[in-house]
Amino acid sequence: MLNALTVDLEDWYHVCGTTDNDDHHKWAAYESRVKRNTDTALSLLRLYNARATFFVLGYIAEKEPELIKTIHKEGHEVAIHGYYHQRIFDITRAAFEEDIQKSMEIVASITGVRPLGYRAPEWSIRKETLWALDVLRKSGILYDSSMVPLTKMGDRGFGLFPHSIKTPYGDIREFPLTTLRVFWENLPFTGGLPMRIAPYWYIVSKIKSINRSAGQPCLVYVHPWEFDDANPEIELPLSRRFMHYFNIRTARPKFEGLLKHLKFAPVKEILDIRPA
Ligand SMILES: [Zn+2]
Repeated sequence: MLNALTVDLEDWYHVCGTTDNDDHHKWAAYESRVKRNTDTALSLLRLYNARATFFVLGYIAEKEPELIKTIHKEGHEVAIHGYYHQRIFDITRAAFEEDIQKSMEIVASITGVRPLGYRAPEWSIRKETLWALDVLRKSGILYDSSMVPLTKMGDRGFGLFPHSIKTPYGDIREFPLTTLRVFWENLPFTGGLPMRIAPYWYIVSKIKSINRSAGQPCLVYVHPWEFDDANPEIELPLSRRFMHYFNIRTARPKFEGLLKHLKFAPVKEILDIRPA
């Protein structure tokens, strides 16, 4: 079975809830490491002949159009991750709508193709921000991949596998983050800190077991900064420092192992999304 491979294309300072991230006027002064780190991801994808969905930050697309062109030319899907990397619950509906439109326009002007998919910064669709799906569908986005069926991040009542959600503008497809039921909670294991903590054999066997027993595809995600062994320092409280950097050296070998042992495709192909 094919699983969805996704890359959230952002730079080292895009850590939600920090002043480095939230004040975009500071960004121009920061060292840009996104190109070299994305080149690492692209060369691994080339090596294993795998294609992915890149959820691209509009700000990065505007700064690095050649990088976005390369991603598109190499057969990957270019979708959006917002323009200024703001969590949905931190902004108004009008500001969100503007952020989405701006990101879609910049990506479409570079690739010549309207993006079809969206991922929220820090998976920030919650019960109280479900209006975001209406805004996305109204803007022409046909699928979202931002919902986590986990009490602390999304909502435990959210769906576990790909499904459709009704909006006033038509249905939108959702590809939620893959989780495993452990006692009373659905725990993520296919990206970020959970993937860096979980043993590699465990990740592969659980993905295969979901493919087999539930007959469902899984969603793997990675950030280019996870491939960087010299990330500049960001001021973070201890718990967030742990979340952000713990075991970061395992991200690349785990990602490479998954490319070697599993078959992947971009989200739009797995959901069979076609523009009208
Ligand atoms: Zn992000």
